[in-house]
Order: sequence, then structure tokens, then C-alpha cells
Amino acid sequence: MIDIGLNLTSSQFAGEQDAIISRALAAGVEAVILTGTDIAGSRESAELAARWPGFAYATAGVHPHDAKEVDAASLAVLRELAALPQVVAIGECGLDYNRDFSPRPVQDAVFDAQLALAAELGMPVFLHCRDAHARFIEILRPWLPRLPGAVLHCFTGSDAELDECLALGLHIGITGWICDERRGDDLRRQVARIPAGRLMIETDAPYLVPRDIRPRPKRNEPAFLPHIAHAVAACRGETPDTLLAHSRATTVALFQLPL
Ligand SMILES: [Zn+2]
Repeated sequence: MIDIGLNLTSSQFAGEQDAIISRALAAGVEAVILTGTDIAGSRESAELAARWPGFAYATAGVHPHDAKEVDAASLAVLRELAALPQVVAIGECGLDYNRDFSPRPVQDAVFDAQLALAAELGMPVFLHCRDAHARFIEILRPWLPRLPGAVLHCFTGSDAELDECLALGLHIGITGWICDERRGDDLRRQVARIPAGRLMIETDAPYLVPRDIRPRPKRNEPAFLPHIAHAVAACRGETPDTLLAHSRATTVALFQLPL
């Protein structure tokens, strides 16, 4: 199984990256994709990924929260990082109108610029969208024919939003949000409607601790991916082995992982 979203540069993992990766391996995780969320973090993710060749990969991008930090040099750095063999996608990029940490017009422009970069380089994109579906689709749609693929990570939208994403050919990343007894109801129902070949699994660690793990851990980590996979498989009415087989194949194909 492959964790498509691990924020290994998080300060919550400082000094513990080796232990986190060891526990992931022991738990049966086959590969991880480290999420780049700003310029420094994308560089650091690429450097970290190089420590575990064949196991760790990285994305290079700027999260909408950090869009306001982007300057003229930023795209050139992303282009340079994207040329590294362990960097497999542009992102995390998209829109977050929930927290609005960057002004919306700036988020829109920085998202569009990263889609243009991915199209130019022929790379897939790792997408983030919170409370911005209509605008997100409006910006993304014209680029889709020129992108080799796209995954909307940590999907938490409505049924209609899921339908539109699937109709546009997007892949859907499912996190431990599905284990959340307070707010996971929609996702537990929706996940059964994602066809095999479009679904990927992720922890988004250290965020989104699966809330039904006892005792409840203080932070999330990729060793909890099997727990999430079991929850997703149960909601889909398929065996964990079936889920893991198709989600792995989907992930390997989208990110062109040499596994
Ligand atoms: Zn995200």
C-alpha cells in the first residue's frame, strides 16, 4: 500500500523521520509520497525522499495557504525540483476558501500557474480544495486535457462535488477523515461510489489522526495507513486486499512510480 500524502517536513516529526519511516515499513507500507506545500518545504521533501530511494517520493508545489509567499523566483525553483527523479507530481496546489490564509485572487493565480507548469512538464498534479469547489473546477477544467492526471487529495466535499470530480476524470484521495465519527458520515457513504481505478489512500500525516484508533494517538503517521485502508474497504464492501490491489495500481500508474 502506498501513502500518497505524508507531510514528513512537519515540525511534529522533527528529528523522528527515520523512526516514522521504519514504522511505516514495519506496518507494510510499500512507498510514501511526501507532500511539498511551499518552496522551502518542497525542497526539503525532495531531499528527504532521496534518503529512502525506491520508497519515498515527493511532490513540489505551493499550498493555497502559502500562495501569498510566491514570488517571481518560485516557479523556477519548482521547475528545477520537478526535474529530480524522486519528484513525481506538481502540488500540493489548489484553493482553500475555508481558512483564506492567502487572498483569493492570489490563490487563484498561483493555482493556475502551477497547473500551467505541470502541463508544460507533463506531470500529474496533487490537488487541494476546501470550500472552493466551483472556482476550483473553473480554473482546473481547461488544463485537464493537457495534464497526464490529477488527484484531489483528502476529499471531503458533497455528493454533487464528487460526481463532478469523477466526471472530469479526477482521482480521489481518501484519508482517515473516514474514521471520524463526528464528520465522516458523508465520506463513508461516498467512498463506495468511487470506481476502482480512481481511488487512492493517504494519511495526510501528521494531520487527521484516525479518531477511532485506541488509545488515540497524538499525531498521525504512515504506519496508520493499514487502519485507514481497512475502514475504506469496509465502507466499499470489498476486502482490504482488493482495495489495496486496485488503489496501489492506480497510484503507481498516475505517479509513474518505478515499483
Ligand atoms: Zn491538503
